[in-house]
Amino acid sequence: MNGKLGCLLIQLPPSLEFDPELVESFFKVLPTAISFAVEFRDLSWMTEETWELLRKYDVAYTIVDEPLLPPEMQLTSKIAYFRWHGKGTRPWYNYRYDKDELKPWVPKIKEIAGKADKVYGFFNNHYHGYAVENCLQVLEMLGELTPRQTEAKKNIENHFEMLVKVQKPSLESFIEPKKLMKMTARDLLKTFIDRQRLRRARDIKDRELSIQEVTDKQVKALIRDYRITIDLEKQLILHDCSDWERVSSDKRFCKHIGKLFLSLEKKKTSDILKQIRSEKESWQFKSYPK
Ligand SMILES: [Zn+2]
Repeated sequence: MNGKLGCLLIQLPPSLEFDPELVESFFKVLPTAISFAVEFRDLSWMTEETWELLRKYDVAYTIVDEPLLPPEMQLTSKIAYFRWHGKGTRPWYNYRYDKDELKPWVPKIKEIAGKADKVYGFFNNHYHGYAVENCLQVLEMLGELTPRQTEAKKNIENHFEMLVKVQKPSLESFIEPKKLMKMTARDLLKTFIDRQRLRRARDIKDRELSIQEVTDKQVKALIRDYRITIDLEKQLILHDCSDWERVSSDKRFCKHIGKLFLSLEKKKTSDILKQIRSEKESWQFKSYPK
C-alpha cells in the first residue's frame, strides 16, 4: 500500500448477532503491525462487553452514521474510525448529506480527536460522488481543508450545481414511496408518457410487437424494426426510434416503450416501473451504440 494504509476495516454481516467468543478468536490471529477497525451491523453488539473486548485487542470501534444503528461514540483503540453511510432508503448509501446534518458531527469528531492518535473518517453514502463533496465539507467545518482540497470542493460543488440545472428536477416528478407502492401499472405508466404518445401506443397492433425475452434481469422486444432492451441490472433502457432521441433525455417514454409496457403482464409492468421510478436518478435511457 506504499505507506498509504491507515487501517483495515472488518465489516461484519448484519446477520451476526453478539458473539464475543467468535469475534475474539478472530481478533487473536490479527497481525499487530496493522491497525484494524470493526463495524458491527446488529444492535446486540452495542454493549460494554464489546467495548472491553475491542480495547483488549486495540481494535477501533467504527462509529457509524446509518439508519439501523445509533451513533455510539466509543473510542476503543489508538485510532478512531468514523463511517458515514447515509440515511437514504433502498439503498441507504444513495444519500447526499445536508450541511446541517454534518454540523453536529464536528464537536463529536473534535472530542474523539482529542483522545485518539489518529482519526479516520469515511463517507460511503453515494456512488455518484456525493461522498467526496460531503467529506470535503466536514474537513472544512473542522478547519482542516488544504488549498488543494478547497479547489476540489469548489469543483465538485459546481459540478452538482450544473447537474441540477440540466436535470431541472421538479416536485411533481417526485412520488412518495408509499404512494408509489400503491399505484397501478397504468398509473405508473402515465407518469412516464404523455397522453398523445400513450394513445399512439394503444394504436400499435399486437402483431407488430414481438417480445423476445422476459426475465428478472432483462426484457427484450422488437416493435416493427425498432429494438427495445430493458436491462434491470444495469438500470438501462436501450431503444432506437427517432422520438426516443427527444424523450429519453427527460427520461420519458416514446409510443414503442409505451406499447411494450401496455403488453407485458400488469405485475411485470408495475414491478419494472416502480424500480425505475424509485431509482430514476441511476437509470439511463439511451440509444443503442452505433
Ligand atoms: Zn420509440
